[in-house]
Amino acid sequence: MLDIYTLGEDVLREKTQRVTEFDSGLAILIDAMFETMQEADGIGLAAPQIGVSKRFFVVDTRRPNEQIAFINPEIIETSHEVGTYEEGCLSIPGVYYDIVRPLSVTIQAQDIHGKAFTLKATDLLARVIQHEYDHLNGTLFIDRMEDDAREKLVKAYNRKHKKRR
Ligand SMILES: [Zn+2]
Repeated sequence: MLDIYTLGEDVLREKTQRVTEFDSGLAILIDAMFETMQEADGIGLAAPQIGVSKRFFVVDTRRPNEQIAFINPEIIETSHEVGTYEEGCLSIPGVYYDIVRPLSVTIQAQDIHGKAFTLKATDLLARVIQHEYDHLNGTLFIDRMEDDAREKLVKAYNRKHKKRR
């Protein structure tokens, strides 16, 4: 099981580096990410969340054919139509909030062998992809909230998760 980094850790705010080696180390890490995510009841997990500042993430919506690793992803198209959905994040436990995002996206990425693929996603899969993709740019879903709401929420979160000295 991998440690999940939480709000306040610098790695969550860094811009990530492209993956260049598609070796067994990457495959093992991605397997461990799927396990860690499933154990934590998450539906997506990005590399910065396990302390690795690289461009990849995994998703598993628990729907058929929606257990996917995305390496060096680029979202190349987003729909004009947007929707609201209550998001959470394994790196900000206990915090949930309605976030507006495009309803569908087209994403290009590589698989664990380095093979390129393109996927058009809608629904929950499109939602998770956008949330995880944000992580690769140091963006968290709370950044997409209104300022007042975010400040309140982060204050409450920090009170609850005050680090012991
Ligand atoms: Zn997240």
